[in-house]
Amino acid sequence: MPHKMEERYKSYIRSVRPYEPGKPIKELERELGLHHVIKLASNENPLGPSRKALRAMRRALREVHLYPESKCHYLVKRLSQELGIGENQLIIGNGSNEIIELLARGFVSEGDRVISSETTFLVYPILTQVMGAEYVGVPMKNFRFDLQGILNAITGRTRLIFIANPNNPTGTYVTTQEVEDFIARVPKDVIVCFDEAYVDFVEAADFPHMIFHAKTEKPNIVILRTFSKAYGLAGARVGYGLGAPSMIEYLHKIRQPFNVNSVAQAGAAAALDDRFFLWRTKHLVSSGRRYLAKRFEKLGLRHIPSQANFILVDVGRDAEEVFQALLRKGMIVRSMKAYGLSTWIRVTIGRRSQNAQFYRLLKSYLEKRS
Ligand SMILES: *Cc1c(COP(=O)(O)O)cnc(C)c1O
Repeated sequence: MPHKMEERYKSYIRSVRPYEPGKPIKELERELGLHHVIKLASNENPLGPSRKALRAMRRALREVHLYPESKCHYLVKRLSQELGIGENQLIIGNGSNEIIELLARGFVSEGDRVISSETTFLVYPILTQVMGAEYVGVPMKNFRFDLQGILNAITGRTRLIFIANPNNPTGTYVTTQEVEDFIARVPKDVIVCFDEAYVDFVEAADFPHMIFHAKTEKPNIVILRTFSKAYGLAGARVGYGLGAPSMIEYLHKIRQPFNVNSVAQAGAAAALDDRFFLWRTKHLVSSGRRYLAKRFEKLGLRHIPSQANFILVDVGRDAEEVFQALLRKGMIVRSMKAYGLSTWIRVTIGRRSQNAQFYRLLKSYLEKRS
C-alpha cells in the first residue's frame, strides 16, 4: 500500500538496485544442512586473518569502551612509513568503499556525470545513482578498460572517473603507458580515482606505480587501497585513500568523526607488520592462478588472464545454472549474469585443496551436461 511518506523518497534512490554480496557460508550451510561449504565468491583471503593482526585485535578489545583515534593516528603513521608518503596524504576509511562514498558525496551532485567501465565494481554506479548523478559505463575493449572510450565520454558535467586496476571482475589491468597518456589528457578538474584493491597480486612488469603520482601531489588523482583482500581483514572494514594534501583534507571534512573502529585500526597496523603472511598470500594466489588457468585450458574453457586473486571463466552455458549446481555441492562462486556476461562465472583463488575441489565439481558438472 503506497503511503504518504513514499512521495518523499527520492526517485533516483528508489530505483537503485542494491549491491548483492556473495552468498555467506553460514547461510548456505543452513539451507543445505552441509558443514564444509567453500566460498570462492568474494575475493577474500583463503588463509584467514594474519595471526599478528588477530593478536593485536584481541588486545585492542580491552579498550573497546573508549572511542577510537579519529584520524587513525598510528595506522596512518605506519602506512606513511611503509609507502614513503606524507601522513597528510592518507585517509583511512571503513573499507575503501567508504572513500568511494566520500568522493561521491564530496564532488558529485544531481545531474553530474561519473564515468567508469560497463563491467566493473558495482559500487561505482550505485553510489553515483544515490547522488542523483548519471553513470556512464563505457564498454570494455577485449575485457579491459577502454581509456580512450572514457576520454570520449567526458563532458563539462563529468566530476569523477573510476579505474579499477586490476579490474574486478575481469582481473585485467591498464598499463603504465596507457595511464600516463590518459592522465595527460584528462581535464585537471576531473577526479581520476584508481582503485587498487588487488594491487598486491600484480605480477605484470608494465603495471603502473600510482604511488609515484600520489607523491607528486597531483590534485585530481586519488588512489584507493584496502586491507580486505591480501591482508585478510575484509570483515574488519579498513581501506584507505591516497592523494594530494588538499584533497585529503577535504575528504576528512566529509567523513564521520570515528569512521574506523579501534579494533580494525589495530588489526590493520599489525597486518602491515606481518610480512610472512603477505608473502604466503601472494604465493598462494600466484600458484593458484596458474593452476586454475591450466585446468580451464584442459577443459577447453576460455578464461581471462588475471592479475588479481580471482579468474573470470566462460563456462559455455548459462552461468546461473552452473552457479546453482555448484551451490548445491557446497561451492559458492559468482555468476556474472548481472554484468551481462551470461555464460561467465568468477572464481576466487582459494587454498590448493579448494581450487582442486572447484575444478573437480566444475568438470563433473560439465561432463554430465555435455
Ligand atoms: C573488494 C574491492 C574493494 C574493497 O572494498 P573494501 O570496502 O575495502 O572492502 C574495492 N574495490 C574493488 C574493485 C573491489 O573489488
